[in-house]
Amino acid sequence: MKFDVAVVGASPAGLSAAASSARTDARTVLIDRDLTSVPNANTIFEGMASAACLNVEPFSIHQVRGMRLISPSGHSLEIDAGGHFLDRKGFYAHYLNSAADYGAEIIESEVRSVSRSADGMELFLSTGDVIDARIVIDAAGVDSQLASSLGIKTMRHPDDVAWAIEVDVRHPGIGEEDRFEYWVGSIAPGWKATFSPAGEDMATLGVFVRRHGRDVQRFLETFLKKFISRRAGSHPGLERMRILGTRRGGDPIAVLPGRIVDDGIMVTGGAAAQSGLAYSMRAGEICGDVAGRAALERDPSRERLSEYSRRWWRELGFEYILGRASLERLRSMSDDEIDRLFISLSGRNLLVPGGLWRKSANAAFQLTKAMPSMLPRFLLNLLRF
Ligand SMILES: Cc1cc2nc3c(=O)[nH]c(=O)nc-3n(C[C@H](O)[C@H](O)[C@H](O)COP(=O)(O)OP(=O)(O)OC[C@H]3O[C@@H](n4cnc5c(N)ncnc54)[C@H](O)[C@@H]3O)c2cc1C
Repeated sequence: MKFDVAVVGASPAGLSAAASSARTDARTVLIDRDLTSVPNANTIFEGMASAACLNVEPFSIHQVRGMRLISPSGHSLEIDAGGHFLDRKGFYAHYLNSAADYGAEIIESEVRSVSRSADGMELFLSTGDVIDARIVIDAAGVDSQLASSLGIKTMRHPDDVAWAIEVDVRHPGIGEEDRFEYWVGSIAPGWKATFSPAGEDMATLGVFVRRHGRDVQRFLETFLKKFISRRAGSHPGLERMRILGTRRGGDPIAVLPGRIVDDGIMVTGGAAAQSGLAYSMRAGEICGDVAGRAALERDPSRERLSEYSRRWWRELGFEYILGRASLERLRSMSDDEIDRLFISLSGRNLLVPGGLWRKSANAAFQLTKAMPSMLPRFLLNLLRF
């Protein structure tokens, strides 16, 4: 089977890469080992969705007015920023159908290995088939070994993947709250514990932990106890909530991409440390567009494909660098320091309207005013990306 572009992984980035490549008229195939599995991400903020040109409203099952950040001893900060809990199945099915509508062929099979051939790239499938493609896009998630089997180091700080476990829960009224909640500190070292109301009686609770191994179940158990006790007044009987399902995986939130193109191969989404639903779909879109056009020009060289990494760094790179510097600063803070920071930030306006630079400058100004001692370490982290 011969294609111009072969995308491995129906991840959020893989789905948009396949659609975007097929839209250029390049002969495109999308291969996933399990087309019934649905990617993990289900919450999205409106600002991010519109930056990535995603229309999420048709798939929204619950709308929130913002987020609440919770410090280790329970101080809270509220930030207004509209967001949605999505119908995951409907959302990803829509993007799979749209890749097919643009002309991408969809194959269900595991890709066992990838290699270079005289004519381009070869993918060896578990079905025994071999796919020939001018360009392969590795969108097979944070654990993908495809690009790395060709000697490509796709992540700058692979030890900084946040390992996550999230449970879907049911309890009367739990899903009706109007803010996503992010708890920080030793409850989920290096990143966050989350509560995401999903409408009516449904919600998800999870932990995303960095540098404590892949098994983060113990952090989830502690978080569930604390969450239940904090809600004892508003949601009696929460200790009897039903856990309907569990999802695990890696979120490369503070990892930063390494090399994401080489001759004949491109990497996108979690495999390239491009975390998050909206931004990984935007990355996939840029990747698929460059791949499709380069394949039609019969130029799969690293130089030609580098248009993708240049566009990605220009459009999204700074935000990821800022994110890493902030999360590294958070990881080095004690629970006491985080509590003091929350107290000093109380009443300040952390989110202003406007572009990324204005938002970042305001947040940095407010943080520095609240706790001047944070600044030197933060700047050091920023320079060390
Ligand atoms: C539990 C959890 C919850 C999250 N929630 C959110 C959220 O609410 N909002 C948000 O913005 N971000 C969220 N994230 C982060 C976000 O999910 C990821 O950054 C994003 O989904 C990127 O996924 P991915 O690229 O790693 O690919 P994945 O979603 O892991 O998809 C990889 C795909 O590749 C396929 N595949 C893998 N290997 C092969 C192979 N060899 N052959 C064929 N197919 C293969 C798999 O079957 C899978 O379909 C969450 C992460 C986790 C772990």
